[in-house]
Amino acid sequence: SLASRLQSTFDKLRGKGKVTEEDVTKAMREVRLALLEADVNFKVVKEFVNRVKERAIGQDVLKSLTPGQQVIKVVNDELTELMGGGQSKLAVASRPPTVVMMVGLQGAGKTTTTGKLANYLRGKQNRKPLLVACDIYRPAAIKQLEVVGKQLNIPVFSMGDKVSPVEIARAAIAHAKEQHFDYVLIDTAGRLHIDETLMGELQEIKEATRPNEILLVVDAMTGQDAVNVAESFNNQLDLTGVVLTKLDGDTKGGAALSVKSVTGTPIKFVGMGEKMDALEPFHPDRMASRILGMGDVLTLIEKAQIDVDEVKAKELERKMRNAEFTFEDFLEQMAQVRKMGPLDELLNMMPGMNKIKGMKDLKVDESALNRVEAIVRSMTTQEKQQPEIINSSRRKRIAKGSGTTVQEVNRLIKQFEDMRKMMKQFTKMTDKAKKKGGGF
Ligand code: GDP
Ligand code: MG
Repeated sequence: SLASRLQSTFDKLRGKGKVTEEDVTKAMREVRLALLEADVNFKVVKEFVNRVKERAIGQDVLKSLTPGQQVIKVVNDELTELMGGGQSKLAVASRPPTVVMMVGLQGAGKTTTTGKLANYLRGKQNRKPLLVACDIYRPAAIKQLEVVGKQLNIPVFSMGDKVSPVEIARAAIAHAKEQHFDYVLIDTAGRLHIDETLMGELQEIKEATRPNEILLVVDAMTGQDAVNVAESFNNQLDLTGVVLTKLDGDTKGGAALSVKSVTGTPIKFVGMGEKMDALEPFHPDRMASRILGMGDVLTLIEKAQIDVDEVKAKELERKMRNAEFTFEDFLEQMAQVRKMGPLDELLNMMPGMNKIKGMKDLKVDESALNRVEAIVRSMTTQEKQQPEIINSSRRKRIAKGSGTTVQEVNRLIKQFEDMRKMMKQFTKMTDKAKKKGGGF
């Protein structure tokens, strides 16, 4: 872990009897790389490292008998501070109901989180929440919230998809006052990417309902992107808090670090799974420990960024050869691709791809890519890893979750399977060619 790494760096120095400023600088290099690798915004990393260095070089740390542990403690404290210090609680209206508006991109987990939050408020705080269905665009979105409500036995206010979300929200609040609900949780529509229509509508709902909380729901797995999303939503809506979902996945948590420091908006809750009880209040100190204790980051921190990419490319190539390529790899590839620019060029850089005839002239349709990404994001971790378990009921759920059709989901899975097969054949071909002494 980062902690043990730092400790061992300092252990090595013990023989010297004294820890110098230079030693601290060296240790900070590891911290810096670890954070960058965990997808923390580079500006945040820079400021953070400077702050830690300043404190660590302070006399107390250098003179202490356990400078390694002292530095770890400073890192831990500063990480905690970066994420807001203490726990940020939900605001409460002086006169009920407390209105909470949930916003975010499609697939981030708004609807799920709305249900989880209602469940949390009722269970932990004995409150009476009302769920409000304001996503009238996505097919079956209202139904999805109704299913959640039924499952939890919590009422859902909806007026179908013919009434504007603003009117629905307004009517819901009137209803909540009349029926003495404590909380009104408004589930709004998302988009795959931020656009003006969406923001305009959210602003209208905000004006009409004067919410006590506007919570942005972001997918922790999206790393750096989560920060950009948070920044845009915050500029338009003045967020009061963030819910970071899908922290149960193998995310490195970098988003948690950057979101607060870039937007100034505290993380209030984290989603730890798909079930309705998988919502937890966010504790910055616990998150700091999780980040410090992170194993996978550390295997990589000594390597320069370029080496890391090489390692990833090698691993990818190995997976392709063995046809072990999963939807998770697929998503990771897509994320990298989007970071880097034109897809056509990138395909050429992928191992083996430039050698396939015809690949060079490939044209890429970005909007189709968005839909594909939405489909993959709506899969569970297990489904991404073992696509063969995706049966017809799962396909239906995925289609609903991604706002696409079962046909599209079927097509993607078919293509994915074909691709795996092709990789296998391709591998056999290249192996044969190698044996013959020929090459590609
Ligand atoms: P929305 O489009 O923002 O309303 O997103 P949904 O609530 O429909 O969620 C999209 C997908 O993410 C669904 O398959 C959810 O089950 C899943 N999801 C939401 N929150 C979490 C979480 O904390 N952990 C995991 N593993 N999955 C989640
Ligand atoms: Mg939804």
